[in-house]
Amino acid sequence: MTNYVVLARKWRPQQFDDVVGQEHVARTLSNALTAGRIAHAYLFAGPRGVGKTTMARLLAKALNCQGATAPTPTACGQCESCREIAQGIAADVMEIDGASSRGINEIRELRERINYAPLKGRRRVYIIDEVHMLTNEAFNALLKTLEEPPPHVVFIFATTELHKVPATIQSRCQQFLFRRLSRLEIVSRLELIAQREGFALSPVSLGLIAQAADGSLRDALSLLDQAVAFGGPSITEEDLRQLLGVIDRRQMAELFDALARRDGSGALTVIRSLSRQGQDLRQLCGMVLEWLRHLAVARVCGTASPGEGQALLDLPEEERKAVEQLSGRFSAEELQRLFLLWGRVAEELKGSLDPLFAIEMGVVRSTQLPALESFGSLLHKVSELERRLGGTLDAPPMTQSAAPRSPARRSDRRPDTADDTADDSADERTSDDGVARPAAPAQPAPAASRPPEAGRSLDDTSAAPQAVSARASTPTPPSAVGQDSSIAWAALLELVQQQKPYLATYLADFGLVEITGRDLVIGCPAASAVMADRIQTASNKEFLETLIARQFGRPLRLKVITLQGAAAPVPSAAGVVPPLEPLVESALDLFGGRVVSPPQPTPAAPVPATGQVRPPRRPATPASSSSEDQQGASP
Ligand SMILES: [Zn+2]
Repeated sequence: MTNYVVLARKWRPQQFDDVVGQEHVARTLSNALTAGRIAHAYLFAGPRGVGKTTMARLLAKALNCQGATAPTPTACGQCESCREIAQGIAADVMEIDGASSRGINEIRELRERINYAPLKGRRRVYIIDEVHMLTNEAFNALLKTLEEPPPHVVFIFATTELHKVPATIQSRCQQFLFRRLSRLEIVSRLELIAQREGFALSPVSLGLIAQAADGSLRDALSLLDQAVAFGGPSITEEDLRQLLGVIDRRQMAELFDALARRDGSGALTVIRSLSRQGQDLRQLCGMVLEWLRHLAVARVCGTASPGEGQALLDLPEEERKAVEQLSGRFSAEELQRLFLLWGRVAEELKGSLDPLFAIEMGVVRSTQLPALESFGSLLHKVSELERRLGGTLDAPPMTQSAAPRSPARRSDRRPDTADDTADDSADERTSDDGVARPAAPAQPAPAASRPPEAGRSLDDTSAAPQAVSARASTPTPPSAVGQDSSIAWAALLELVQQQKPYLATYLADFGLVEITGRDLVIGCPAASAVMADRIQTASNKEFLETLIARQFGRPLRLKVITLQGAAAPVPSAAGVVPPLEPLVESALDLFGGRVVSPPQPTPAAPVPATGQVRPPRRPATPASSSSEDQQGASP
C-alpha cells in the first residue's frame, strides 16, 4: 500500500503505439525518428491531460535510448536511460515547469548550461511545460537560444494555451496539436485498465467517468482512482453518480420525454427531483444543452448514416439508444429553438438569485413554445386552398361578404365613439382591410399606448385563416405585398430565423397586431414583455425594419406593444371568423384552425346585409383611438 502508484502514472504509455487519441502525433514523430530528421524544437499544444508530457518523454526516450545506436521510434524501455527518463530522474532530460520557473533568471541559467554536452545520452532534452506562462523577457532570452541552438539540444514545449505563445517562438518550432479524447476512446482505455486491475465497473459506470473527464484521459484515470477509493473495486453506478455529481441518464430521458409531450408538470417534477438530489443546477442546464445537441445530431444524421452518427454522438451504447429514440420526437427546428431557449436560460442563470427558478421558467417556456409549421407547408396549404376554391386568391373576391365587411368592422369600434360619423367610415373603407390603413400623422396619442382589443388584434394577427378571409373579402387590393400580411410576416420570421436565430426566439411569442399607414405593430402577452426590450435595441430594430420594408413592400416603423389580459393574441390561435362563409370553412379545415370567439351583434352599427360582425372591442381608452381614427381619415 505504501508504494501505491496512481493509475495515470502506472498506465502511462511506454511506446508511441500505446498513446490513445494522439496517433497523428505519434506517427509523425516515429517517421521523423526513423528518417533521422530531428528538429531542434517541438511545440505540443492541446487541452490538459491528453498526453503532451507523455509524448515529450517518449520522444526523449527515443532520442536517448541506449538499446539503439541512433534515435529510434521503438525505445527499448529497459536500458538505464529509458528507465531514468520514465522515472523522471534522467540527467540529460530537464523538465521545467513554465508556471513556476517563468522569469528571465531561470532562462538565463538554462542558457548557460545548455552548451554542456550530454552526460550519458545523445541529446540534452529540455521539456518546458506550460510554456505560455513565461514572461516576455524570458521568451526573448529563449528566442536567442532557439535561433542558434547547440546541435545536441532538443527543446520540447508544451502548452494548453497556444495563442499565448509568441509567434516568434511558434515559428521556430515544429507544432503538434493534441486533441481532446472522445468519450468512446476514454471508455475503451478505462475498460482495459479496469479489467487488468480487477475492477468490476459496468460500461455505464465507465461512461459516467468518461463524461466527467471531459476529454482528458489523465482526469479519467484520476477519477477511476477516486471511484475505487470511494466505493471499492466494484463501485455501483449510484455511488459513482453521487461522487461525480453526474446526472442520471434516465432522468434526462424522462425530462426530454416530458418536453416532447409538452407536459410542463412532468418536466417540472423531474427538475424538482434533480434539485432535491443536490444536483448543481448550472451543470443541469449545461446537460440539457448537451442533450439538445445530441438529439439534434441524432436527428440530422441518425438513420441516414448510422456509423457516422454514432461517431458524432460519441456516447456510450445505452445513452446513445435513449438519445436516438427521443430524437424522433422533435423536429430539427424545434431542437434548434430549444437550444436557443436554453442558451438564454444559461445566460439568465449567471445573474439569477435562485437558479432553480430560472431553470423552471426555462422548462415552462420549453413546453409552451408554439407549435412550428414550416413556411413551405404553409405555402402548400395556401395553394391547396386556392385549388379548392377553383381559382387563385387574386381573383375577384366573393361579393357576398365584401361590401358589408368594412362597415361591420368600423361598427365594432363605434359604441364608444359618438362623434364618429358614417362618412369617415365610408372614406376609409377602401383601405380598411386590416392591412393597410391611411397614415395617421400627428397623432395625439401614440399608437403603442393604445392597448389593442381582442377583436382587432385577432383580426390582424398572423393566423393564416383570417388573412385569407380578410383578403378575399376586401374589394380593393391594398399595397403590393401587404395584400397578405400574415404570409409576409411568416416569410419575415423565416428570414429572421435564418439570419439572426436568437432574434427569432425573442420574437417567438409575438404576433402581428396591425399595420397602419406607417407603423407595423407587433404584440406579445404580458408574460413575455421582457423580450420587447431586446427586440427594440437599435440594431435589432434597424435589422427588422429593413426586412419589413422588403417583405411588406414599403418602409414601416416597428412598434412593439404588450397585450394585457385575455385579449392577448396567441400567435398560433385561429382567428375570430364568422361561420357560414365557405372560404372560412375551407381555411379552418386546411389550417386546423378554430373559431375562438362567436360572432356577436353589434349595437348601433350600420347593419350590414349579411349580418357579419366582429366581436366588440374592449372598452379601453376609447378617446385616443377614436380621435386617431378620425385624424387618420380626415386629411
Ligand atoms: Zn532504452
